[in-house]
Amino acid sequence: MPGFELIGEEERDAVNDVFERGGILLRYGFDQKRRQIFRVSDFEKRFSQFVGATFAQAVSSGTAALHCALKALNIRPGDEVITQSHTFVATVEAIIESGAVPVITDIDETLNMDPVDLEKKITSRTRAIIPVHMLGVPCNMDAIIKIAAHHNIPVLEDACQALGANYHGKSVGTLGDVGVFSFDFGKTLTTGEGGMVVSNKEEIYQRAREYSDHGHECNPNIPRGEDTRTMWGLNYRMMELAGAIGCVQLAKLSQSIMRQKQNKKQVKDNLALFQGVKFRSLSDADGDAGDTLVFIFDTQELAKKFVKHFRQQGFGTKNLPDAVNWHFAGTWDHMLACFEQYRGKELMRIWDKSTDILSRSVAIPVMIKMDDNQIEKLISTINTIFHEIQ
Ligand SMILES: *Cc1c(COP(=O)(O)O)cnc(C)c1O
Repeated sequence: MPGFELIGEEERDAVNDVFERGGILLRYGFDQKRRQIFRVSDFEKRFSQFVGATFAQAVSSGTAALHCALKALNIRPGDEVITQSHTFVATVEAIIESGAVPVITDIDETLNMDPVDLEKKITSRTRAIIPVHMLGVPCNMDAIIKIAAHHNIPVLEDACQALGANYHGKSVGTLGDVGVFSFDFGKTLTTGEGGMVVSNKEEIYQRAREYSDHGHECNPNIPRGEDTRTMWGLNYRMMELAGAIGCVQLAKLSQSIMRQKQNKKQVKDNLALFQGVKFRSLSDADGDAGDTLVFIFDTQELAKKFVKHFRQQGFGTKNLPDAVNWHFAGTWDHMLACFEQYRGKELMRIWDKSTDILSRSVAIPVMIKMDDNQIEKLISTINTIFHEIQ
């Protein structure tokens, strides 16, 4: 989780620099006063290069990025949008806020969208599919894209948890029609709060940009006050300070992803797995961003025992199981009860395969600032617990 681990002098200097140059905090306009320095625009350009997308639009959060991307895909009230049961609440919140009906698939042992279930969930009203690359690992995109293409449905990748992950050599977020990233304080790159929409399709990018800025078309030859518009939007603009921080964090990104991958490999290679536990399956082993290590135990009892011992040794987990209620649709009565197909149902039962897999999964954060001693301690702690519980 390098983002917040690396916040330091460079980020502070970049923020101070914005103030020293007159403190233009809005990302658009004031061209003379800011001496043509636009940090959010710089961040967009560099980010699009980093992931290999033609276009990038920075926004105020990953949730905003999801909302803008759904608007860019022309999602309307009554449309169905498919996503997966294991995701952060934001994915479903954005679907609901765009007026659409969330349709939720099970996951498989990648802990990501199960393509077999995806196929079953498609109807004549499906207008978008949102695979979510959870905990740094890409979804099985070949299968998902094949199904989507067959039905002519656009794919929006929620890559908020997977910056730095690749699938067959391409960055997540660039495999479908549009992709979104988050820069909140828990993510791999952080600007405090922030998000990005990326696409290779100009029209999608433009609509996302307009939606993030009240419909402004950013017509180059007209003052902002007289700008033209064809759609309404909201204010999801990224602030100039966040753009400045983003540029600095991005410059550190390749290095930190390399470090977290190395650390994860070192831990993984030295674990003595036993009969009752395995690693999460990976759709592309080289593409794993490496910020999380996930075990899938054979039984929920084993998983619980492991977590109990692990906590006693002073270690914590990442989402599974400590924040599972924020990451599993089976617990989301507060949102899903608004929709007829879920009302009065026992949600956990609807996604019983996901309930089963997630209840047996334990996720451990991989930090980049771990030194050899800390890595050794983590390895020996896990191996000791494995030995005790098997
Ligand atoms: C963090 C996250 C989001 C939302 O991002 P914010 O920047 O916190 O709004 C969306 N989807 C997933 C999978 C996330 O992990």
